[in-house]
Amino acid sequence: MKEITDQQTLLIVDDEPANIQALARLMHEDYRVLVAGNGAKALEVAAGDVQPDLILLDIQMPDLDGFSVCRELKNNPRTSSIPVIFVTARDSTDDEMEGFRLGAVDYVSKPYQPELVRARVRTHMRLKQKTDLLEQLAMVDGLTDIPNRRYFDEELQRQFRRCDRDKTELSVIMMDIDNFKGYNDNYGHGAGDQCLQKVAQAIRNAAGRPTDLVARYGGEEFVVLLPNTDQAGAMEVVENLRRSVAELGLTHEFSDAASVVTLSLGVATFRPAAGSTRAAAPAAAPTPEDCRQLVKHADLALYEAKRGGKNRAHGESWAGTDQKSVRTPFS
Ligand code: GH3
Ligand code: MG
Ligand code: MG
Repeated sequence: MKEITDQQTLLIVDDEPANIQALARLMHEDYRVLVAGNGAKALEVAAGDVQPDLILLDIQMPDLDGFSVCRELKNNPRTSSIPVIFVTARDSTDDEMEGFRLGAVDYVSKPYQPELVRARVRTHMRLKQKTDLLEQLAMVDGLTDIPNRRYFDEELQRQFRRCDRDKTELSVIMMDIDNFKGYNDNYGHGAGDQCLQKVAQAIRNAAGRPTDLVARYGGEEFVVLLPNTDQAGAMEVVENLRRSVAELGLTHEFSDAASVVTLSLGVATFRPAAGSTRAAAPAAAPTPEDCRQLVKHADLALYEAKRGGKNRAHGESWAGTDQKSVRTPFS
């Protein structure tokens, strides 16, 4: 996730090296500057690891022109929210209208006044920063600083589609702190909040891969999404999670599970069947209901773990119709 304090990044796209140089000279003191000499390169850079906060996009370029580049940027969810300012020698009203219709935020005609371009870029960079901040506020849980449920739900849908397409397995781990009401009632809500923060941190550290997503699902419930992970893999992660939280050693004298704060965990793994009807009919993409089913199975497994005595995990593997239960008690 982008930090608000990070320096902002500007992508300059122009087929004329001299134009790129002039704009880069004007901007490099205020922003990290990326450049692209053609439309294809621009699309590649915009979707890359260091994404631009704003794009200055030339309209007239051979092969892929600026309008086409803008259209593609807006069609790709990864790049659709990056603001685009068109820069062009043409200044007909029709071009300007076409640019705005395609989703550009502004328009600069050549020859331009350097100070004017700078001012416009600054304005849109500030707007972008505010939008990022709002998004961050809405996607991150305020208490624990980890992604919130909304973010998890969106990511779950994305990863579900992906695992169905690539025929890889997807696991979800649902976790709930044992006897947390007793912790709050006896040590106070403030101590409860601190406990949640420590548990969130431990969970985040224990979910090993960069692609694993840890989120606060609600109250004292956390969830981990494990792309490309089968049930055996998920069970390993689960034991890491359980142990990491127990090893925090947070005294809990009012728990019926242990003398320290512990978690119960439920695991569900979705296995897309190779050559399933979905593969034969790709139009039948996974639905939000499929995603809810995966979470529901993890929740049922969590309930089993609670029923089995808490501070343990229970797993289920799920392929839509057939279902296999694996009981893995930990002590
Ligand atoms: P179980 O072992 O069956 O999970 O029992 P439990 O006591 O953990 O479960 P229960 O659902 O009865 O209680 C959950 C408690 O979590 C109640 C609520 O006060 C507390 N809680 C939920 N959100 C927060 C929070 O943001 N901060 C604090 N301090 N407590 C919270
Ligand atoms: Mg609960
Ligand atoms: Mg609980």
